[in-house]
Amino acid sequence: MAVSKVPLRSGASELAGVLDSPEIAALVAQLDGTRWTGRPGYPIRAMVGMALVKSLYAIPTWSRTAALVAEHAGLQAILGCVPSVYACYRFTAKLIAFRPLLDSCIERVVGSLSDADPDLGRDVSIDASDMPAYANGQRFVSKGGRERSDDEFSDPDASWGHRSAVSTRKGGGFYGYKLQLAVCSRSGLPLAWQVETARSNESQFAVPLIDRLRERGLAVETCALDKSYDNGPIYDACEERGCRPIIPLRQTIAVARGDAEPPRCQHGEWRFAGSDSKRGASKWRCPTAECKPASRWIKANRLHPLIPRDTLRWRKLYKGRASVEREFGRLKHEWALLPLRVRGLERVQLHADLTILAKLSCSLARGRAAPMAA
Ligand SMILES: [Zn+2]
Repeated sequence: MAVSKVPLRSGASELAGVLDSPEIAALVAQLDGTRWTGRPGYPIRAMVGMALVKSLYAIPTWSRTAALVAEHAGLQAILGCVPSVYACYRFTAKLIAFRPLLDSCIERVVGSLSDADPDLGRDVSIDASDMPAYANGQRFVSKGGRERSDDEFSDPDASWGHRSAVSTRKGGGFYGYKLQLAVCSRSGLPLAWQVETARSNESQFAVPLIDRLRERGLAVETCALDKSYDNGPIYDACEERGCRPIIPLRQTIAVARGDAEPPRCQHGEWRFAGSDSKRGASKWRCPTAECKPASRWIKANRLHPLIPRDTLRWRKLYKGRASVEREFGRLKHEWALLPLRVRGLERVQLHADLTILAKLSCSLARGRAAPMAA
């Protein structure tokens, strides 16, 4: 289990470290370079600092973030001022307008984490999790009342989706968004993500996330996914990208027929004898080597992946999928990914970006402060 040995953080000292890291300082400089004045007053560095404070202290709203800073001398000393809540709103509008600058900041942070840990992103896990909207999705305006018209939904981008049961909470419908997340199975760090409306089918977002990981310079070798991603095109798309899919089988007709079983002969069930990724096939051998030929190649597909499902390696990699579940929990509860207090896909995406960027840049700063602890 990945139990953190890092002592409990002091928000103010951590904020200073992150704000002055080269990756975040570059974002501040680039935003400064856009010569956006808005209203004169607060420096960009202080506004980026406000976004970090919000996540570091797990505060859901800008108003409470501004209130905290207003009474916290330590934070004021680092930010150099006391930004107003309105300045925070204007700053998020600026970030949406200069989206590519934020994206490249995230890329720099992931790049630096990867420089410090060459195994980062080698084995990843991808899953989706619910983000209930800050809006009412009920179809009727009141119990037994009239149906809500389209312009009466306060968040037109949110929609109804389904979530699975977690712990003691029952599964069922929810209204809002889904966060698609790719996490490094070894380090537990989130490396690529995307917010979509809840009704979207999550399995279509796995491959774009793998592409984004590759764009960020990560050499993804395996990707663990749950059963809901078990469809042929995902296996093929992963293999095309040199990434081994680790996905349990759904009971389809072919699976029930036994097509996914190893080959058999009169001597028994054939044994796995290694895969050749260049050939795109796995090798299987007659248990007694009496058959002629005694081995044969099976082309990789959903039923016969290059890492077969009954191997130790497959089971170990699939266990890594717990890392993405744990990370959803940490982001939601320790970094205030939830509850959402913004509406609209663009702003919910920005909220997820800022939350995860804060977490990643803290990891980076901690690794630099204590390189031996890693
Ligand atoms: Zn045989």
